[in-house]
Amino acid sequence: MKTIVLASGNQGKLVELGTLLGALDLTVVAQGDHGVADCDETGLTFVENALIKARHAARATGLPALADDSGLCVAALAGAPGLYSARYAGRHGDDAANNKRLLAELHDVSETERDAYFYCCLVLLRHAADPSPIIAEGRWHGRILRQPRGDRGFGYDPLFQPLDSAASAAELDIDDKNRLSHRGQAMVLLRDQLQREPWRMLKTP
Ligand code: IMP
Repeated sequence: MKTIVLASGNQGKLVELGTLLGALDLTVVAQGDHGVADCDETGLTFVENALIKARHAARATGLPALADDSGLCVAALAGAPGLYSARYAGRHGDDAANNKRLLAELHDVSETERDAYFYCCLVLLRHAADPSPIIAEGRWHGRILRQPRGDRGFGYDPLFQPLDSAASAAELDIDDKNRLSHRGQAMVLLRDQLQREPWRMLKTP
């Protein structure tokens, strides 16, 4: 079985990705288990940040590395909060404050102008100098509600109503969310690409 390092300390992501990649005979280990700390995310796009994180983990461990980067892009805000989704209101991971700021920014925006999507980019580098990383993207389109609804999920889920759904993302059960979401879409595309990958390519040089 091949081992891949996940360029994140997030336990939830490790479990999700481990399940997905376990079916491909791949083991996912956290970069923290190899003593690798988070790196600065200095890119200006999700894909750049995912590449930076994956390269950092691959270089430090000598293993193939997988990284993800995700966020919410709102049309009326020119794509914000975008890369800064996790710290839109200042403090990293303060979901309540982030949602409050989002509602305030959209206070005067009409019902027809509240389009948004969640975006996720997954990058797998076979080794730190890999010139052709495997890249998979997902976009989950919808609109931003005027009031939070539901208590499942995390982040902006209570304010996000997916297209063709009466429920907010925080009212969906986890299996439905995973089937529809930006992350779920990207994971399926990554798995499809990995299924076509000759395993010897995952050897480090
Ligand atoms: P990261 O992928 O953990 O860096 O997520 C960045 C931020 O984007 C999170 O802290 C959330 O604010 C937001 N985000 C990403 N994916 C989701 C989602 O599925 N639901 C709600 N918020 C999300």
